[in-house]
Amino acid sequence: MIKLRSEHEIKLMAQAGEIAELARRAAGEIIAPGVTTAEINAAAHKVITAAGAKPSFLGYAGFPASICCSINDEVIHGIPGKRKVREGDIVKIDVGAFYMGYHGDCAATFTAGSVPEETQRLIEVTRQSFYEGIKYAREGYRISDISHAIQEYNERHGFSVVREYVGHGIGTELHEEPEVPNFGPPGRGMRLFAGMTIAIEPMVNAGGWGVKLLSDGWTVKTADGSMSSHYENTILITKDEPIILTADASGRHV
Ligand code: MG
Repeated sequence: MIKLRSEHEIKLMAQAGEIAELARRAAGEIIAPGVTTAEINAAAHKVITAAGAKPSFLGYAGFPASICCSINDEVIHGIPGKRKVREGDIVKIDVGAFYMGYHGDCAATFTAGSVPEETQRLIEVTRQSFYEGIKYAREGYRISDISHAIQEYNERHGFSVVREYVGHGIGTELHEEPEVPNFGPPGRGMRLFAGMTIAIEPMVNAGGWGVKLLSDGWTVKTADGSMSSHYENTILITKDEPIILTADASGRHV
């Protein structure tokens, strides 16, 4: 069942989204060589709880932290802990906030110190592919129009998109229908209607698209050890341009 959100619900989702954005930003700001992933988690957790919200991920299917923190060839779902960020690392932060019954979910890839030019390009192409995708995130298009645009943009730049994990509907639940893949032919899947809220999240590898799950049961890495980048926002479909809900009150976002 796809839910179309009322004006009131959209207001609450924008508030949840703003908290998630502020947590993403706070996490990004402290990323530097020597910082532990647990410290990054604490920074985001503090922003979420200070705003009167709950971290969407904490306890989700047993996940033990408030953010996912994935480094270098880790794609998603890295568990914060004692690991120290090192010079040249790329650090993916994925964070959700649950506020007044609604979730906001966003992610971004940050750098610690300077990274090789090719890695910087991977990060920028991944982020831009989100914007290429949301050109089709409006009433009248279909889900896979977004998927196709994301895939095409990343592959044109020599990168590959992860197949096994996808974006998703979001609202009263963190993960709702429909699935929003980052690949596939255009013109398929569900039609988009004003009032739908979805999280679009390209996961992009420098090498092949294959991934593997580590024995901790959470961390997903690239199968070939290549670098991986992630970017995500929660958006609202309208008849016109989509609205990014994981943004602050002035519309700014990481
Ligand atoms: Mg998500």
